[in-house]
Amino acid sequence: MKKRRTTRLIRIGGVPVGGGSPVSIQSMTKTDTRDSQATLRQIRALKRAGCDIIRVAVPDMEAAMALGPIKKASPIPVIADIHFDWRLALEALRQGVDGLRINPGNIGADWKLKEVVLALKDRAIPVRVGVNAGSLEKGILARYGHPCAPALVESALRQTALLEKFGHDLIKVSLKASNVPTTVDAYRMFSEKSDYPLHIGISEAGPPAVGVVKSAVGLGVLLWEGIGDTMRVSLTGNPVQEVRTARQILQGLAMAKGPEIISCPTCGRTTIDIRRLASQVEKRLRGIQKPVKVAVMGCVVNGPGEASEADFGVTGSKGAGMLFKKGKVLKTVREEDLLDELMKEIGKWRP
Ligand code: SF4
Repeated sequence: MKKRRTTRLIRIGGVPVGGGSPVSIQSMTKTDTRDSQATLRQIRALKRAGCDIIRVAVPDMEAAMALGPIKKASPIPVIADIHFDWRLALEALRQGVDGLRINPGNIGADWKLKEVVLALKDRAIPVRVGVNAGSLEKGILARYGHPCAPALVESALRQTALLEKFGHDLIKVSLKASNVPTTVDAYRMFSEKSDYPLHIGISEAGPPAVGVVKSAVGLGVLLWEGIGDTMRVSLTGNPVQEVRTARQILQGLAMAKGPEIISCPTCGRTTIDIRRLASQVEKRLRGIQKPVKVAVMGCVVNGPGEASEADFGVTGSKGAGMLFKKGKVLKTVREEDLLDELMKEIGKWRP
């Protein structure tokens, strides 16, 4: 794994982004922002799943006015996502949001953008330049013919220059496409040219069955190359799953601590219901903050071996199960008691 690229440090509320800080996880609410109570319920659920920063859509002035109460009660920093109307950006800042996501190219005349940037500067609030393959400037698109990586990079450089022109450099950048190679190339190219912190993501990645894989491939490659300071997995589904997927990507690369499950695929040697047990263990581990590694194995072929690498392990053995701690057998228990016994031991354990 390559060393993390050196980027500038900014702060979204209390969360550091860039400058070598841990990669933070973002998501976006899928509620009507005007319904602040529903939006806050979703934010709290996302925070419980491990979300560090939340973004909310601001399609109109009523939504912008709801940002104040949302921000006040939110347990994590709030970013307002604004397109087209600079007045919404100004109102969002008045309402006290921790960050803005805009596309400077679609805010309109220079004087409108200048008003937004001066308001950002006054409050020292960071802004994300969110370049998306689906909304590139017409001129750039005409020149490149299609939304390729160099086109995304040119757009991002042009948009960051617009913000710099008005004296604001608390910036992070995203260059998203739904195509994984285009996205990866764009981030690679941009990170060679700029040290602004990067928000990485695969845009419109799809429903979970497809989007989880695309995101894991794309974001996994970027993170492996040391690119990315904050991340969002975009799924057509429950945003809690976006956050869980992001956490799993980070854990898969050993970039985040937390519970980890290892489970065998099962085969003809399996003697207990490992599928059910693994899924129950996975669910119960979600509520645990400890960096515990648990192996759930179907039989004694690989079970004790994997269990010795894990903090805890269970291995099926003729309708019963053996419970391991750090590779040593603790006890043999009935299959129906395995889950509770395992969780009891994990509860007592201090890493
Ligand atoms: S651990 Fe045992 S049950 Fe699981 S896949 Fe391997 S051989 Fe099959």
